[in-house]
Amino acid sequence: MPDEDFDQDFYERIKAYEGRAAVTGGEGKDPVNEPMIRHWCEAMGDTGTGYPAVAPPTMLQVWTMGGLSGHTGRSAAYDELFALLDGAGFTSVVATDCEQEYLRPLRPGERVTFDAVVESVSPRKATKLGTGHFVTTRMDVRSEGGLAGTHRFRILKYAPARRTSKDRRPRPVINRDNAGFWEGVARHWLLIQRCGGCATLRFPWLPGCNSCGSAEWETVEASGAGTVYSYVVMHHPQFPAFSASDDASPGRAAPYAVGLIQLAEGVRVISNITGVPHDKVRIGMPVELEFLGVDEELTLPVFRSADHGEGGRG
Ligand code: ZN
Repeated sequence: MPDEDFDQDFYERIKAYEGRAAVTGGEGKDPVNEPMIRHWCEAMGDTGTGYPAVAPPTMLQVWTMGGLSGHTGRSAAYDELFALLDGAGFTSVVATDCEQEYLRPLRPGERVTFDAVVESVSPRKATKLGTGHFVTTRMDVRSEGGLAGTHRFRILKYAPARRTSKDRRPRPVINRDNAGFWEGVARHWLLIQRCGGCATLRFPWLPGCNSCGSAEWETVEASGAGTVYSYVVMHHPQFPAFSASDDASPGRAAPYAVGLIQLAEGVRVISNITGVPHDKVRIGMPVELEFLGVDEELTLPVFRSADHGEGGRG
């Protein structure tokens, strides 16, 4: 089977990168320092004692980061490996997991150096995202005091399982907290959450109430009436996926209007404004909810101008 021969040959070529340097002689841009430690602790909500005399061990990778300008020391081998994977169609990348091992605390003033090695390249694996190869890289982080820790991270270089057209509108991210909203949309209901504790309405959906903290809630179906509270007109960049949603300008890409709609119930919703040219959208303009069938899988709530009697509904 020629395909299997090719696959085996390809795997041998990429496996040959195991043990090769990914980064050699990397140097931290700044010494371990108290401001960075303080920012980190604030961001993490860590109000414990002991900092910033000692850097939190989980900051290990922070001291190696190159920032926007990147850092020197990245090896050609690592880029070659990625180019091989790209060339074989494994063009997408996702970070899958990371393990760290802490050997010694880092203290303000210490200078960090690091080296990284391609530790392993997996055989081809089928995943939900697509088929590809896991690449594990191990970084050893040192300072004047010796090895401080290791940072092992794994990425998957893969060929996407389903080719998604750039012309396809991006899918909403549906999770436990907002699944009910999207189930409502599928039934052509725009559901607002109402707190079970204090009856405050909220949108977008959240697991708890911002006013009283209650996790109890029920839903109220929006009447569909609203007004444009604010809006922007999208000119650039032009995303083909967003070009067809405004039937006032069929087939045209940007510009199009995105409104912050004040619903009659009082909450605000961001969505497209349809049925009116983008330059005719005005603050205070009445709009009415409708459901746009974007494609065979996706329905979105949008707001049609109620100012223009174009009679083009549906
Ligand atoms: Zn409440």
